[in-house]
Amino acid sequence: MSRKVSILGATGSVGQSTLDLLAADRDSFEVVALTAASNVRQLAADAQRVGARLAVIADEQLLPELKDALAGTGVRAAAGQAALAEAAAGEAEWVMAAIVGCAGLEPVMAAITAGRTVALANKEALVTAGGLMTDAAARNGATLLPVDSEHNAIFQCLAGQDLDRVSRLILTASGGPFRTRSKAEMSQVTPAQAVAHPNWSMGAKISVDSATMMNKGLELIEAHYLFGIPGERIDILVHPQSIVHSLVEYADGSLLAQLGPSDMRVPIAHTLAWPRRMATGVARLDLVQVARLDFEAPDEERFPALRLAREALRSGGAAPVVLNAANEAAVAAFLAGAIHFTDIARLVGETLETMVEPAPASIADVIAIDRRTREVLSLQLEHAT
Ligand code: NAD
Ligand code: MG
Repeated sequence: MSRKVSILGATGSVGQSTLDLLAADRDSFEVVALTAASNVRQLAADAQRVGARLAVIADEQLLPELKDALAGTGVRAAAGQAALAEAAAGEAEWVMAAIVGCAGLEPVMAAITAGRTVALANKEALVTAGGLMTDAAARNGATLLPVDSEHNAIFQCLAGQDLDRVSRLILTASGGPFRTRSKAEMSQVTPAQAVAHPNWSMGAKISVDSATMMNKGLELIEAHYLFGIPGERIDILVHPQSIVHSLVEYADGSLLAQLGPSDMRVPIAHTLAWPRRMATGVARLDLVQVARLDFEAPDEERFPALRLAREALRSGGAAPVVLNAANEAAVAAFLAGAIHFTDIARLVGETLETMVEPAPASIADVIAIDRRTREVLSLQLEHAT
């Protein structure tokens, strides 16, 4: 029997990897809906390629263009936030949440509330609303499956074990393109250098996050909410080859690790077939070729984002929302050439110090805090430039 699936953020890096897997196995999957922010042409082409029933473009002004592109194909076109929520909570039993940033919050929550199996790539949703999401998942019988390679690795290493016998989670980090650069060198790097990740091919925002190591900070918070382990028992370990995707240490001293090629199709396939396994055309890992695995401690002096994220998790309440929103806005400013690379963490730190916000009790609260944080950050940007 085929599994009904939808992809939120189908035109992105994770969305496209998911589509590759679906297109290679048309008999096992039935595609209900695909969504995108604004890339009409890609969305229309993909919807036809995999035989989707619905294509949703977030930008309502682009609806006529999408309708044109899909005329006569049998794929229904829709636009706007309500249509995004419909795609998330519609007929699909399995929903890939691969929208980047806070924009994914409402659709993800719609899928969870509808009790779907949600493959979660959108880490910003867990960072900013992790408690709200896991509570809603428990209430509505939704299943959250981690797509982020580190969290997927941990999920595989936990394999139904008792959490009270887990002593530590160890998140591996590649260290990004500037792992060996000095602070002075980092202040001069360009957006093009920052998005050139040594091991993974990803969207622009997460690539910059990998370079500042804010990505690992966000993943620390993500791991806390996904697995219910306190931040003090989640370590970060730099591992430049990105072969060991993360580890779990048990009370008896055993360390379980998941290894694999640095290809997002592997963790995505794990969530697509879960609780079974599916074949993928991904190149096998040749450990003889790899020959060695290196590990080193992270340097919070050169990568202050790690410390900021750990502190935000410890403070709790609105702090992770502020951290995430300030980071999204600062990364956008860096990509636009408005600030230096090292300004990203500095601005995030300053925003965290300035803002006093109550703990969010709903997604609407999270979105309001996100908005206020962006306003504060844009004022700081005006002062800085
Ligand atoms: P991307 O930028 O390549 O794609 C983002 C997708 O979201 C696109 O389809 C885009 O159309 C859609 N989108 C953007 N803004 C939107 C909006 N306002 N409304 C509706 N849709 C919108 O990003 P990506 O690299 O695929 O990452 C997606 C998510 O997965 C991120 O949260 C990222 O942190 C996470 N993730 C990515 C990778 C990776 O390898 N790329 C790995 C782990 C986690
Ligand atoms: Mg990751």
